[in-house]
Amino acid sequence: MICVCEEIDPPRYGLSGKAAIIEDKQTVLKNFGLRDGNWLRLWNIDSRLLTMFYQSLDSRYDWFIVVYDYEKFCIDREVKEAIIWHEVGHITYPVGRNCISLENEINCDHMAVKSGQKEGLKKVLDLTLDMARSLNNELLIKLTNERKERINAY
Ligand SMILES: [Zn+2]
Repeated sequence: MICVCEEIDPPRYGLSGKAAIIEDKQTVLKNFGLRDGNWLRLWNIDSRLLTMFYQSLDSRYDWFIVVYDYEKFCIDREVKEAIIWHEVGHITYPVGRNCISLENEINCDHMAVKSGQKEGLKKVLDLTLDMARSLNNELLIKLTNERKERINAY
């Protein structure tokens, strides 16, 4: 059974259908290849960065934003809004599973910035950089720095 934490106001995010935020720890961990929640602490991963967005199979909704921990997701309003706007952007600029498209990530970042979420997005990218460094992930460090430069230049 799906437990809906919050319904998203479609016109506010330019959505043509209904969307909701749901919390599903197991799905999020599985999607990111993590065996359990301890890895988040071990690798200094902020769970808000693991937010997923996908088309719903549930007839009541068109899309779901899947978060690891809803309470934590809502702790900082700017971060929350920036993440929602970025994820909603992926409807227009999709990125396939296990694919990297820097251009589409930047397009989604721009959608967030255009809707007034620049400060929140900066925080998201700083958290991403912390995570990338902790994971020693050179590629993620490079991509995140590029995204930071591009939103500053926007
Ligand atoms: Zn993205």
